[in-house]
Amino acid sequence: MKDADDVLLVIDVQNDFMPGGALAVAHGDEVVPVINRLARGFSHVVLTQDWHPAAHISFAANHAGRSPFDMLTLPYGEQVLWPTHCVQDTPGAALHRDLDIAHARAVIRKGHHAGVDSYSAFLEADRKTPTGLGGYLREVGVKRVWCCGLATDYCVAWSALDARAAGFEVALIEDASRAIDLNGSLEAAWRHLHAAGVKRVQAADLHSTLEAGDMHD
Ligand SMILES: [Zn+2]
Repeated sequence: MKDADDVLLVIDVQNDFMPGGALAVAHGDEVVPVINRLARGFSHVVLTQDWHPAAHISFAANHAGRSPFDMLTLPYGEQVLWPTHCVQDTPGAALHRDLDIAHARAVIRKGHHAGVDSYSAFLEADRKTPTGLGGYLREVGVKRVWCCGLATDYCVAWSALDARAAGFEVALIEDASRAIDLNGSLEAAWRHLHAAGVKRVQAADLHSTLEAGDMHD
């Protein structure tokens, strides 16, 4: 069992990111059983939800003449325009029904400011506005952040990079995550992650560590 130094950060395992959802990530549903099993090895789990107002700036539908996956230049930088997704309190924004982590301690909802997107669980896309997750994790003594969920190349990668920038040791669990891979975004994400010192691990590596750790309990 991972102890108080570790947190499993489960990112955006929500209906709209599942096959058939508004912003489907291919094979996104396959992460659910993997994450459920991983979570049983962590005493501390935090979940995130993408949680947008209907008027959110990242939705193509809110920009006349623009289509999903167009790029738009905003005051804080380049923004991908997405299909309308994860609108607050809609079924699409709900966590996948089979996600089974009763002991999760906190849910961070991000992207709630209408004018700013937030891929990262730590810092909004203006790169200035904190979500509060970094302070929370520091205050409870976490040192290592294990990231998984959807999508590898956007919300998971950005969260992992920001966790690293906030001073945590960070690993991204590759097979407990799935990617969107838009215009080479997955390869670029791994390049940035590697450069930042984020470890790339598989769930099986972690199970062997967890089971070895359990033997000492
Ligand atoms: Zn979003």
